Amino acid sequence: MGENTRMEEFLNLSDKLYREMSSSKEKSREELYINLTEMGRILVDADRASFWKWDKRKHQLWTKSAVGVESIVIPDNTGLVGKALKEGRVIITNDPYNDPDFNANVDKQTGYVTKSILVMPVANIYGEYIGAFQIINKNDDKQFSETDDVRRLSNAALILALALESETFLEESHHDKLTKLKNRMGFYHDFSKRYANVLKEGRPLSMFISDIDKFKRVNDTYGHNAGDDVLVHVAALIESFAPENGGVYRWGGEEFIMMLPDATVEDAAKLAEEVRVKLQGTPCKTHEVVIDLTMSFGCNQFDSASSIEDNISVADGRLYTAKETGRNQVIWKD
Ligand code: GH3
Ligand code: MG
Ligand code: MG
Repeated sequence: MGENTRMEEFLNLSDKLYREMSSSKEKSREELYINLTEMGRILVDADRASFWKWDKRKHQLWTKSAVGVESIVIPDNTGLVGKALKEGRVIITNDPYNDPDFNANVDKQTGYVTKSILVMPVANIYGEYIGAFQIINKNDDKQFSETDDVRRLSNAALILALALESETFLEESHHDKLTKLKNRMGFYHDFSKRYANVLKEGRPLSMFISDIDKFKRVNDTYGHNAGDDVLVHVAALIESFAPENGGVYRWGGEEFIMMLPDATVEDAAKLAEEVRVKLQGTPCKTHEVVIDLTMSFGCNQFDSASSIEDNISVADGRLYTAKETGRNQVIWKD
């Protein structure tokens, strides 16, 4: 492919990507990574490209951007990608079938013939590797060059690394490490992205806020670690009741919010009652002790004329009433 055509193709793709990125509509992150991978392929003028994300904790490499496949996960000590990341260097093979690190099985299954490979580790701004590009078969049977092709690919690597970093950062800041639920920041994010639309469309939106009864006593009696186990237990139990279009959030210490689109306050109260009964019948088994638990609940149906905070305050007020009048109960009206 001529240099000018390749530049045109690159600019068209970056133009399309940036327009999508800066639009307010909901977008698929997978699509973004697939397009950034495609950008790498165009820049080095090759037949195929994939980006392998490195999950260091699970010792895995995974990709969603290999052509024609859903998602592939492999151990991180496999193949040329594994080797490039382990050694922290670019690997180029222009004779893969004679390279002991090349896995020829995929070619055997698909009938594709790999002639040249370029693997480039991708680092974040702290210099830690977060994944690698794998580019296959430079067009016109040419060979990959360590100087020119790496220089070109660095353009896509730079953008991909920054996109992945900002995604990771946002995901982490929206989640609670202990319970794995979304936290208060995640709640506000989801509210603007999902729940606000429910109200805008005139559909009912309800919630309940729940708080573990006498939780301080758990910490005081069994210790803070047992308290943490209880929080994980309760979070998972509440989450198992969340409908597909709803969500559970850790609002604070031992307080959880359940969001329920297309539900009235009566629906929310009914679900809260189911959670209440289930929790009462499901003690938390920590490795040392079995702890009986109950929770109190306050429900509210959102009033689109009030602020988010005022709506939550209504539910919170009912939770307070539940606490004041005996705990282990659901209050859904004043
Ligand atoms: P009530 O029935 O009125 O809700 O009583 P309570 O004891 O549950 O209420 P209180 O708000 O006095 O106590 C909440 C406790 O939750 C205090 C705090 O130490 C504990 N807590 C908050 N976050 C965590 C956490 O992440 N882990 C543990 N183990 N405890 C936590
Ligand atoms: Mg409590
Ligand atoms: Mg509390």
